Amino acid sequence: MPTTRNVVILGSGCAGLTAAIYCARAGLQPLVVEGHEAGGQLSLTTLVENFPGFPEGIQGPQLIENIRAQAAAFGAEFTSGDVTAARLSTQPLELDIEDAVEPLRTRALIIASGARARWLGLASEKALIGHGVSSCATCDGFFFRGKEMIVVGGGDSAMEEAMFLTRFASAVHIVHRSENFRASKIMLARARENEKIRWVTNARITEILDVARKEVTGVRLQSTHDSNKQWEMPIAAVFLGIGHVPNTAPFVGQLSTDPDGYLVTHENVLTNVAGVYAAGDVQDRRYKQAITAAGTGCMAALEVEKFLAHHAG
Ligand code: NDP
Repeated sequence: MPTTRNVVILGSGCAGLTAAIYCARAGLQPLVVEGHEAGGQLSLTTLVENFPGFPEGIQGPQLIENIRAQAAAFGAEFTSGDVTAARLSTQPLELDIEDAVEPLRTRALIIASGARARWLGLASEKALIGHGVSSCATCDGFFFRGKEMIVVGGGDSAMEEAMFLTRFASAVHIVHRSENFRASKIMLARARENEKIRWVTNARITEILDVARKEVTGVRLQSTHDSNKQWEMPIAAVFLGIGHVPNTAPFVGQLSTDPDGYLVTHENVLTNVAGVYAAGDVQDRRYKQAITAAGTGCMAALEVEKFLAHHAG
């Protein structure tokens, strides 16, 4: 008989790794499946100032490394690869992992697969990803040292990216489709104080130039008030900071989602399938914080422990 695990945890961000610590300490020998973006969004961020216990702040990648080491120290196991399909209607639950010969079988599952960057959806944007278009300022900002860059968006992500990019850029232009910013007051105030940051409001990007040259040389903009008002702006790089989309592809049609694709969970982070729990950004459209991801990861692990105790097999 193939081995059936007690619990598999999908995702190695703050939610998945916290769940791994709790499951490992409960003796459940969890297996964490790390996707291609191991470490989740904390590994792409810089200074985290709001995670309790670090009065000076802590670098996101360091925080995630610490949590991972803590999970490993208690015996959590790790494997890598994206989940390509899931069969959740019978026990044991089955997951297909890319390049694996056998499906992974498990009695309980914690989905902590997070969310990925949202894109504008322009053909020119897609063609220039990796050639001046990016959703990760910390990954790619360095390449455009001394140049002018755009950050698209009006939330905390956009402010954070813009401030980070001022380390390299000669100027950062925040392009936002309205004048109302979702960013928190403190982040907006810091961005406004930064002399390298310029503001282009009530505008949307309609095209990124220049696909033929395979490099970003500028953008075409349109006023959100007057579609006849269009102009071009020379620029070396475009960074997207317009939010995220939850990673739920293998579960579509099997697990309930809200209209934006977030997994629907009940108060105990249970999905609509027995033994399947969800934690972190994949089920959280409201808070999206490292600490709430850790909290729901903990909740999911405690629920798994109870579930397995009641369904001994
Ligand atoms: P948000 O959903 O808060 O903001 C997304 C922004 O992108 C909005 O300004 C939105 O505009 C704009 N937008 C969305 N789609 C498009 C589009 N197709 N074209 C143009 N603009 C678009 O996402 P964030 O990622 O900024 O933040 C998510 C959460 O993470 C928040 O709770 C935030 O506080 C938190 N966060 C905290 C940080 C920190 O404290 N250091 C850092 C980063 C994030 P509109 O408003 O018009 O809809």
